[in-house]
Amino acid sequence: MNHSPGPEGRDQSGHIYWSRGKVSAAQRESLSGHCGCVIWLTGLSGSGKSTIAVELEQKLFQRGRLTYILDGDNIRHGLCSDLGFSPEDRTENIRRIGEVARLFADAGIICIAAFISPYRGDRDLARKIAQPKKFIEVYLNAPLEVCEQRDPKGLYARARAGEIKEFTGVSAPYESPLKPEIELPTNRASVAECMDIILRRLDELMPAP
Ligand code: ADP
Repeated sequence: MNHSPGPEGRDQSGHIYWSRGKVSAAQRESLSGHCGCVIWLTGLSGSGKSTIAVELEQKLFQRGRLTYILDGDNIRHGLCSDLGFSPEDRTENIRRIGEVARLFADAGIICIAAFISPYRGDRDLARKIAQPKKFIEVYLNAPLEVCEQRDPKGLYARARAGEIKEFTGVSAPYESPLKPEIELPTNRASVAECMDIILRRLDELMPAP
């Protein structure tokens, strides 16, 4: 191991160093035959993030790609169980997930991150952490009314009843992406059609080893 200053300049203490191993990301990629990257799914609750993440993971896996899903609810049970839904906590939630996603990508895995991630600035930070060329932002664009009608987890009903505070789309903002790499109209296109769109675009966008 050699110890050299980290590439990101994110250590604020001045005495923490980035340890490099003897196997590089490029070597890992040549073993697996593909690059690691982060596919970041963003959209309102009920827009289809979990559904698309699960389908996409299966399709990519069937094509011989190593994949892993980071999903909002699961992460909030563990890594981010200490965080709530205030703007500050949401930002910290996405920062931590951005760091974890980056580690997965560095390990050569296609990391599918499925999070509402309502703030543009937070998603931009996740992009910066992952390295912009390894970050593909996918906007699951369905109107609030459609998401609310679906309400797969009953959360909108609870938010409207005042049982859940700071609920995105109801009592907290969602800042839609300005230039996502991929946009899926999950209100107009079926899951299968969305999969066709995303897989075709990923073929063009995913970094080559
Ligand atoms: P989220 O993870 O964004 O909260 P979910 O995936 O849990 O959303 O729920 C989305 C719901 O919408 C599911 O019941 C899913 O079957 C339905 N749905 C209908 N059309 C689509 C589509 N094109 N893409 C994704 N989900 C869809």
